[in-house]
Amino acid sequence: MSPDPGQQHEVAALAADNAVMETEIALADLERIRPLLRGDAGMARGQFRFHRESALAVAEGHVSATLTLTCQRCLGEMTLPVDADSRLAFVESATASAEVTGSREPVIAQNGQVSLATLIEEELLLALPLAPMHRDSDCVARSEPQAETRQKPFAGLRDLMKN
Ligand SMILES: [Zn+2]
Repeated sequence: MSPDPGQQHEVAALAADNAVMETEIALADLERIRPLLRGDAGMARGQFRFHRESALAVAEGHVSATLTLTCQRCLGEMTLPVDADSRLAFVESATASAEVTGSREPVIAQNGQVSLATLIEEELLLALPLAPMHRDSDCVARSEPQAETRQKPFAGLRDLMKN
């Protein structure tokens, strides 16, 4: 059975054990992701391999999900497959996160604890584009040559009124 994704784990203990944690969570249960989605059906999967690296608890993560978003160009529905690898380093505070160097991403573990749900959520947030769009060939708004002129319907009006 998968562990409960919301359960808090002691990162130091996971790292000391070289623990491999794998879980699944419904997208609808990810409270920071859900408002960004057009539809919240589906699951996100995450796997994290914990270990120590000098004084730090670290993990290699892999998160996958298929997100249903709104294309910011045509406002149609689009799906974004996420399949992301990450290299995490756990720290206790934002100040300590400045000390994480190299290719690792600092993750704040409050009181030394994290939940897999939080880690999955962080990864999905990083993977989400600011303005998701279809690929050109899939987007219905792609081939509208007048899009730019239509954005300024009154551009010519000011000239007319001067006379
Ligand atoms: Zn589109």
